[in-house]
Amino acid sequence: MTTAADDRFAEKTTPFLRRLAQSSDAVRTMYEFDPAHEDVPANRGADLFLEKQLTRTKGLVYKYPGRAIVLLSYTCAANCRYCERQDRVGVGLDSEGRLTDADIDAAVEYVAERTEITEVIFSGGDPLTHPRGLERAWTALADVSRVAILRIHTRFPLQAPERVDFDLLGRLAECRPTPYLSLHVDHPDELTAETEAAISRLRRLGYVLICQSVFLKGVNDDVDVLARLFTRLAQLGVRPYYLYHCHPIATTMRFVMPLADEVAIMSRLRERLSGVACPQHIFEMRGTTGKLVVPTDHWSVDMTAVKDFHGAEQDVRSVAMDVQLPSLERLPPGRS
Ligand code: SF4
Repeated sequence: MTTAADDRFAEKTTPFLRRLAQSSDAVRTMYEFDPAHEDVPANRGADLFLEKQLTRTKGLVYKYPGRAIVLLSYTCAANCRYCERQDRVGVGLDSEGRLTDADIDAAVEYVAERTEITEVIFSGGDPLTHPRGLERAWTALADVSRVAILRIHTRFPLQAPERVDFDLLGRLAECRPTPYLSLHVDHPDELTAETEAAISRLRRLGYVLICQSVFLKGVNDDVDVLARLFTRLAQLGVRPYYLYHCHPIATTMRFVMPLADEVAIMSRLRERLSGVACPQHIFEMRGTTGKLVVPTDHWSVDMTAVKDFHGAEQDVRSVAMDVQLPSLERLPPGRS
């Protein structure tokens, strides 16, 4: 029988992160379950950004023209407390949270039949937790001549750098499409000697390296911290790409910053950082598709409403306030 505790987003970490957490408040905050804020189910029925609605074959989401996302595995080396997919990470797909060979073949077939798709993004979860599936999908897609970019989104080199399978990544990089690898880094403490060595190896293998980050209250809500992070990433050959507004769902509220505070920080970063070190500040609307670039405070803009890629408008203030999703019920006290 499923209990309320089973339905929570599980705490999961690695020996590497546990060591790092001893000297880093930021790392501890990113991975430690906080009962004061997370005593709620993972809201498995939610579909905030239409990924479930726009799933075409099992694990394959097609929501942006020309780019397909393959959610290859819903397992991660460690579970970040602010994960936007915490309704699925650790569960789903199959008993191990991975796509089967048949699922992968169906996803490849879908891409092969859609003549406009030129880029495929492997995400999850973390695709590096399903190496056999990643190789099967990658090599099959490399044979689709139209597919020009294959991209891996991973946090594995920051969570378990000693377990990254560089032999596999070397084989993948040798395939025909241009290999991209997007890291997800939120704080300079995550750039340890081990992780920087992994980054350097990935560069030597030929990956184009980019980085996604999330604004996190209590972790990186500081101009100096983020300037240090993005400067170091650029020096390592990792292009800071997107800096997201943290999605306000019931369990992530302790991390969510007011958009205005993010704009103030982002604007100071734009003044301080080189263009190669400064990411785009991204806001995603709920219930629609589109990664929207947030303007800096150098412009006089009324920041009360936002339009998606199709012109539909939402009030930004109500989106930020709407933290309790309709199907979510708080657990009765004491049931843990
Ligand atoms: S690594 Fe990514 S998918 Fe996995 S828990 Fe962290 S944010 Fe979520």
